[in-house]
Amino acid sequence: MESYDALLASITPTTGETRTILDPATGSPVGQAPVHTVEDLDAAVAAAAAAQPAWAALGHDARSAALLKAADAVERSAEELARLLSREQGKPLNGPNARFEVGACAAWLRATAGTPLEAETVVDDGETRAELHYRPIGVVGAIGPWNWPMMITTWQIAPALRMGNAVVVKPSEYTPLSVLALVKVINEDLPEGLLSVVSGGRDVGARLAEHPAVGKVMFTGSTATGKAIIKSSADTVKRLTLELGGNDAGIVLPDADPAAIAQDLLWGAFINTGQTCAALKRLYVHSDIYEDVCEELTKVAAAMPMGNGLDENNVLGPLQNQQQYDIVAKLVDAARDSGARILLGGDPDPGQPGYFYPTTLVADIDNNNPLVAEEQFGPALPIIRYTTVDDAVAMANALDVGLGASVWSPNLDAARDVAGRLEAGTVWINKHGAVDPRIPFGGAKQSGYGLEFGTEGLKALGVPQIING
Ligand code: NAD
Repeated sequence: MESYDALLASITPTTGETRTILDPATGSPVGQAPVHTVEDLDAAVAAAAAAQPAWAALGHDARSAALLKAADAVERSAEELARLLSREQGKPLNGPNARFEVGACAAWLRATAGTPLEAETVVDDGETRAELHYRPIGVVGAIGPWNWPMMITTWQIAPALRMGNAVVVKPSEYTPLSVLALVKVINEDLPEGLLSVVSGGRDVGARLAEHPAVGKVMFTGSTATGKAIIKSSADTVKRLTLELGGNDAGIVLPDADPAAIAQDLLWGAFINTGQTCAALKRLYVHSDIYEDVCEELTKVAAAMPMGNGLDENNVLGPLQNQQQYDIVAKLVDAARDSGARILLGGDPDPGQPGYFYPTTLVADIDNNNPLVAEEQFGPALPIIRYTTVDDAVAMANALDVGLGASVWSPNLDAARDVAGRLEAGTVWINKHGAVDPRIPFGGAKQSGYGLEFGTEGLKALGVPQIING
């Protein structure tokens, strides 16, 4: 792709209804997104079903080669993609943000191409021979959120394509341009109809989840929408992978060094300005080091520049939309009104354009305060004091979600022991939120079910078949 303008022009509809997408940092227009309908979705599913058998017949090696070419294409257009992502989503180019996200798309395409998947011999005792294979599903629906639109779409489509499926993507109505542009680039060498984007609203998502010709839905988004998808997919007994909301706890053990961990704690919480499913959203700190951790976190947080994503200096950006801004502001206001201590932030500038909410740290807050118990999905971290590890574990496990969690201590044995007691799909030690294409990732409790990434992630995009004999 030659330039940002050429990339944007290539996804701008020339016919049909369109919608103006606004930059969350400035309110100025970013581009025009198509408004696709349920009929458009049906046509995309039909085209996907027609393209899928030939794709499946290519075999793993050829499909992996195609994913590697797609990764090259993403790298060639990386800067234009990052710029569009920054303008539409709000995240800065720098820091673990837009350029990082585009880099992750290429990395995941490559890793998925190289992930091993062999048929397993389950029994071979001379009398019985049984093998476990994974056949393609057919057409897969990919429904995604607005926080990491390119990366999460890649997480959904790369294993689906590798396993011989066709894919119809339904991006969030807040960030369709990022997904349209990414898929445009990935599609350069793929067969017509195999991978397409239907840029519609909830009705289009609901139709995808109930569509009789769709065999599986990969969904990343809120727990409430995940429950709606379970219901609408029931009549067709669709396979589902659900990556839903989280409210991840971090537990700092009393022997941790506050100054040494402050930077990693901060990024664990405020990556993508807190708008991350597996971000640190509640921090439990032992009373012995509580004030020191608060002080070190405040120092690091105060030094992180927030502003327009296209400014190379910024590492924190605006919230992506008004609705999310209102959630964060309401939770912080309620925490302040309850008597919690605001260490930093909590005072948005009403005159500033865009959905900027300042980096906020809240101390001396009860575990049942809404800022702790509800998912804030923004740059506001509650820090809760505990006195026994049993109490911290009980508070961490008290919610009905369990995506990630973390334990912080130089004593790895002690940290692993606490990790094993936490009800979460992933527990990190001395870091939070680090994902890796080789390591399975998925939620516990109402954070969802099914695994993504690695060989387990590939298996989730196939139909298990036993060949017995
Ligand atoms: P959301 O659930 O509102 O929307 C996600 C997608 O679902 C959108 O594309 C939307 O159009 C579609 N949708 C809405 N109603 C639908 C329906 N009835 N049927 C089918 N599709 C429907 O989520 P969001 O606000 O975009 O994302 C934020 C949430 O996502 C947070 O709760 C966050 O924790 C979660 N999230 C989870 C992960 C994870 O991996 N677990 C990753 C990112 C975000």
